[in-house]
Amino acid sequence: MQKVGFFRSIHVKFVLIYVLLILVSMQIIGLYFARELDQRLKENFMNSIVDRMNLVEFSVREEITKKRMDSDPTPEQSLKNVLAEFTSDDIIEIRAINNKYRILATSSYENQTRVGQHSTDESVKKSITSEQIQDVIRIDRQSRNHVLSLAKPIFDGDEVIGSLYVDANIETVFRQIEQINGILAKGAAVSLTITIIVGIFIARTFTRPISDMRRQAQAMASGNFMRKVKVYGTDEMGQLAIAFNHLTNQLQESQSTTESERRKLASVLENMTDGVISTDRRGRVSLINDSALQMLDMTTDLVINRPIASILGIESEYTFEELIQVKESIPLDFSTEEQSYILRATISVTQRETGFVNGLIVVLHDNTEQEKIDMERREFVSNVSHELRTPLTTMRSYLDALAEGAWRNEEIAPNFLSVTQNETERMIRLVNDLLKLSRMDSKEYELNKEYVEFNRFFNAVIERFEFSKSQNVRFARNLYSSSLFVEIDTDKLTQVLDNIISNALKYSPDGGEVRFGVTVSGDYIKVMISDDGMGIPKSNVNRIFDRFYRADRARSRALGGTGLGLAIAKEMITAHKGDIWAQSEEGKGTTIFFTLPFEQQEDGEWD
Ligand code: ATP
Ligand code: MG
Repeated sequence: MQKVGFFRSIHVKFVLIYVLLILVSMQIIGLYFARELDQRLKENFMNSIVDRMNLVEFSVREEITKKRMDSDPTPEQSLKNVLAEFTSDDIIEIRAINNKYRILATSSYENQTRVGQHSTDESVKKSITSEQIQDVIRIDRQSRNHVLSLAKPIFDGDEVIGSLYVDANIETVFRQIEQINGILAKGAAVSLTITIIVGIFIARTFTRPISDMRRQAQAMASGNFMRKVKVYGTDEMGQLAIAFNHLTNQLQESQSTTESERRKLASVLENMTDGVISTDRRGRVSLINDSALQMLDMTTDLVINRPIASILGIESEYTFEELIQVKESIPLDFSTEEQSYILRATISVTQRETGFVNGLIVVLHDNTEQEKIDMERREFVSNVSHELRTPLTTMRSYLDALAEGAWRNEEIAPNFLSVTQNETERMIRLVNDLLKLSRMDSKEYELNKEYVEFNRFFNAVIERFEFSKSQNVRFARNLYSSSLFVEIDTDKLTQVLDNIISNALKYSPDGGEVRFGVTVSGDYIKVMISDDGMGIPKSNVNRIFDRFYRADRARSRALGGTGLGLAIAKEMITAHKGDIWAQSEEGKGTTIFFTLPFEQQEDGEWD
């Protein structure tokens, strides 16, 4: 924050204004006082002189109007004595002048030569003509003192017979005034000094809380809420300080709530599995969470401030304005040859109440699994309908032929009926298989587990096939040397083995060999069934466990397969917490392996 200049600070302004006010008022009082004093003192002085002049006037009038004898002294002589009597410290000179302006006498020793001369003094003339006292203050040329000159007319009845002229030393009065003014000035200076000092202190009581608050506001701006303004009193300033402290508390509280909300939001964003991207109002990325970065395989630096459409790889389809209008989520296909990867972007617009668009929030969801499931479901439905349609159309054509009269033909009719019977069988088998799978999918079924000796169990299944087989295929057994007790659902495992062995027989050539083996590895027993059959193309080996998958549709249908056998087997083995897989070489043969969990027992414990 800017520093307040010295002369701009309230403190200095306050003191200046205060001092100026005091100075002006003192000046006014001083001026008035000095003028009054000046007038009064001069008036008093003049009055004292005039009083004495009145006394002199009486004697002078006597002397001028008196009838004289020859023995009497001359009027000049007697007047001189009268005037001499009246001289004092403050009266410098008294002159008596007749109405012809002739100087009759003077008290001054030096001015005796002027007696009998004409008085040139203006005030004397004026006093005689105007019949009023004239007063003038002048500065004496020699002594540089102030001199009060008074000219007073001398009346004889109504007639003016002359004038009394006095030069009085008024310097003492001026000295007095000067002294008093000096005292006044000193007093003013002292009181001003005191005023300034007091002013500074008073101003401080205002400015200190203000600068305290200013400092606190600065501290608050830099995030420090621990400071408190000191409350100096209960006046308005004190109230302001209390209000300020209250404001600080409120601010701190709301700041900490915002901060904790921000942290919560940040942690929610970071821990979300969905990706979140937000943009500014021009569609440039302003925030992105880790999940979104991972999904898009990018780093923050690459993304921040870049247009959202180019980040999502849809800049050719959508502009930012179009993205604002988008109502449904947009699929983003990042699939490669090897791997499918599909994201779904849901876009929402952040708007002010006025409708002004602040930006977009894009939520990215990994939709690969969902898409896969959807695709599988579609495929499944189409597979099922396809599988059902084939036997149904076959049956319809045979039934049509029968209805059109073939039933009468004893040679053809049984053949046609047996075909429809076979197709019906196939459909029943298919529906049963589907039911089995759907039951397993919905986890409705429970395994009916029991402890069995696996070699014995396996042997029984193989023997059943050995007795019933119609082909010329040899069976070779390489079972485990000692007893293997496993906990299995024998019905389910029989179905699994039935399917694998019947497959092996189905695809075996005439004179081929089917080998059966059991080994133990760790906590599992490993079962393998291999044949010398036609094999499976390498790229499809793992697909044989998919529902409806058949390597060679035409041929396997001819062999009566639906393509569900291994899918069911896989479900069952998985339910037993085992694993199933295949190895195959085209033209050479196929081996199906599966494992089952197995607990090693002491030999003979179960025998
Ligand atoms: P189902 O078993 O339902 O009667 P299926 O035998 O055709 O019909 P699966 O047992 O699931 O179906 O087998 C799927 C496909 O795997 C078969 O159609 C076949 O192409 C291939 N297959 C399975 N076992 C072998 C094998 N031993 N040799 C060659 N191909 C095999
Ligand atoms: Mg099969």
